[in-house]
Amino acid sequence: MTTDWQKSLSNLITDPKELCHLLELDVDTFISQHAINEFPLRVPRRFVSRMEKGNPQDPLLKQVLPIAPEMQLTSGYSQDPLEENNANPIPGLLHKYHGRLLLLVSGGCAINCRYCFRRHFPYNENAPGTQGWDRVIDYIQKDNSISEVIYSGGDPLVAKDDMLASLTQKIASIPHVSTLRIHTRLPIVIPERITASLLSWFTQTRLRPVLVTHANHPNEIDHHVMAAIQRLRQAGVIVLNQSVLLRGINDEVETLVHLSQKLFEAGALPYYLHMLDSVQGAAHFAVPVEEAKKLILEMSFKLPGYLLPKLVREKPGVLAKCPV
Ligand SMILES: *Cc1c(COP(=O)(O)O)cnc(C)c1O
Ligand code: SF4
Repeated sequence: MTTDWQKSLSNLITDPKELCHLLELDVDTFISQHAINEFPLRVPRRFVSRMEKGNPQDPLLKQVLPIAPEMQLTSGYSQDPLEENNANPIPGLLHKYHGRLLLLVSGGCAINCRYCFRRHFPYNENAPGTQGWDRVIDYIQKDNSISEVIYSGGDPLVAKDDMLASLTQKIASIPHVSTLRIHTRLPIVIPERITASLLSWFTQTRLRPVLVTHANHPNEIDHHVMAAIQRLRQAGVIVLNQSVLLRGINDEVETLVHLSQKLFEAGALPYYLHMLDSVQGAAHFAVPVEEAKKLILEMSFKLPGYLLPKLVREKPGVLAKCPV
């Protein structure tokens, strides 16, 4: 049986002409075919419905629109900015943080975000297959410093519930693991993904469930997203959000303050505000460190402490995020 979320996932907008038609924009002026060849256009319809028609500067549109500046080579930017290939001991697994282990449970995403640090990541080499997952479980069993397992990707919730349910069962049987965390953009871009079936494997083991959504702008949060976060909360999930600081999208105090407030209204707490990773093709999204610090300081005057995200940056080889 195909569920609603699977239908939405197979019915993404991938044709720039269709996107521009829906938004009443002139396709040739805005879209770069080279950029699409490099990293395809991919965006769920629900996300597009939150964009403003006729506005090429729409903050949601800019997150997904393939444009010519992506093709500029910028020094200091690379294909694998976090050197994740070095922390990839067996396929499907990234062990780069102390006590926490990332599992790449899905190579795909529902949306292709132009700033993504994984736009060049070799996902296909990382599909572990059924036997591979046994090796992953084995790895976790042998290392009792691992107390938290994080489902990552791609977007882990693109994977099907039966696969995630069986993997979660195995992880729950490892005594030293106490927390299961999911990092996903699906509650934002395809909120119907938060189904009873998902909640059942996620919340009905002894593992403490945490979910980190990924919204960058307050316009991303509509009543469907709010309802999805409510379902998670009612099932006992702790819901946090992380954002990336992006030039021309959320680099103003009012926008970030509004994002924090909107998240809180929805039932999620702002967790991280990331500096952009230096991935080739995304340099036009970069906000300089000094400006970022100033933004956070000004936000701190307008928000309670619990709505102020931590400004962080990832450095290759360092065992945690670095505060900026
Ligand atoms: C930072 C990050 C983590 C780990 O986060 P901590 O909260 O610092 O443990 C996991 N997954 C993704 C995608 C991240 O960006
Ligand atoms: S991994 Fe996250 S940021 Fe990157 S393309 Fe997928 S959803 Fe977007």
